Amino acid sequence: MNTKRLVILFGCIGILFALTTWAQTSATNANASAVTVIRAGNLVDPTSGESKPNQEIVIRGNRIESVGAASSSVPPGAKVIDLSNATVLPGMIESHTHIFLQGEDPALGGYDIQLLKFPLAYRAARATVSAHRALEQGFTTIRDMETEGAGYGDVGIKMAVNEGRIPGPRIFTSTRAISTTGGYNLEGYAPEIEVPKGVQIIDGPVQARKAAREQMDHGADWIKVYMTHRSWVDKDGNLVSQPTLTLEEIKAITDEVHGWHRKVACHAYSGEGLQRALDGGCDSIEHGLLITDAQIAQMKRQGTWYCPTLAIYYKEWSPVNTPEGKRDRARAADHEQSFKKALQAGLKIVYGTDIGGFSWDEPIGQDFSYMVKFGMSPLEALRSATIRPADMLGMTGQIGVIAPGAYADIIAVEGDPLKNIEALENVTFVMKDGQVFKSPASTTPH
Ligand SMILES: [Zn+2]
Repeated sequence: MNTKRLVILFGCIGILFALTTWAQTSATNANASAVTVIRAGNLVDPTSGESKPNQEIVIRGNRIESVGAASSSVPPGAKVIDLSNATVLPGMIESHTHIFLQGEDPALGGYDIQLLKFPLAYRAARATVSAHRALEQGFTTIRDMETEGAGYGDVGIKMAVNEGRIPGPRIFTSTRAISTTGGYNLEGYAPEIEVPKGVQIIDGPVQARKAAREQMDHGADWIKVYMTHRSWVDKDGNLVSQPTLTLEEIKAITDEVHGWHRKVACHAYSGEGLQRALDGGCDSIEHGLLITDAQIAQMKRQGTWYCPTLAIYYKEWSPVNTPEGKRDRARAADHEQSFKKALQAGLKIVYGTDIGGFSWDEPIGQDFSYMVKFGMSPLEALRSATIRPADMLGMTGQIGVIAPGAYADIIAVEGDPLKNIEALENVTFVMKDGQVFKSPASTTPH
């Protein structure tokens, strides 16, 4: 290409760029000046634990400007949203989802068919629906805990959400996840056949570090690591799980990820794998089915987050007298005890369901009732889905609160969730980033 043509080409690009920038700026300015007032019958503040009647939230653009007692004066031109019959709360945060999983029926091919037979575009289309479901159920932020063979698909879904092309929550991605040879599905095929894996497989600290670098380079906000894989009940009736990464391997990952100022989430059921996760400096333990007293103390000392995902371990138990049936029951029994110990010790617990591991048609708020049944107060349960994960995600004061300066992520429910936690399973109003995505209320221009 000659110089003259290059000049013309760059000239055109320059004009295009200027036009695009102008268009974007205008759109942002129009949005930024829009004022919305929400009238809240009751407003729950997870930070103080207080519930105040007749409050008013003023939103400018995508941020909350002020919160206070309802007044009769509304800024001129403001849109008023009347939620005076509802309880208003901050948008909730789900810390363990899989938008690229659909809880497939094993009889219909289960997990394997997704990697073996489904085109990626089909999986992305379904992930788009999953993201929408999270939003309409009041989860305005999710930490998605890996794509299960769908590569960097979560980064693409996040882009489309952030550009306003599809409705969805704020997404913290973890892309492909990491485990070792023998440490993840697909498995059980003839050794002569190479099958895809639901994670990036590494062996050795050099490969471990390289995988973390690659994933962060391509947009992973978090790195997800499987520190245990198979689990079973031994001859004494104890739950055992197979460790995956060595201490050296997990340390290579946490060292790399922390250098990028990002965090590592570790799937860990019990035993040696869980111990290596803690010794290796994992930031959050996912599931943690059987945590010893010493491990609880270590988590407390290190400030490790705990994302238990309770409800999923009560689904579809195998028949009682089979090895799988024994394992399923042991998992649930141990998990309940671990959760109670974590609660007693004051560990930092965040709300997560592992949805995608079961169907997105089910309520995403179903873990709340398990948490409360096992001794957590409804207020603490609400905190586990608001201020606690906001802290874990480095978003304190930005999400999980209704306060001046925070993003306008606001939901409403009927009834009082501080008395009846199940109220959180029926979200009637959703605003994210100042935009209404679900509303039963009359919205009147002022
Ligand atoms: Zn999971």
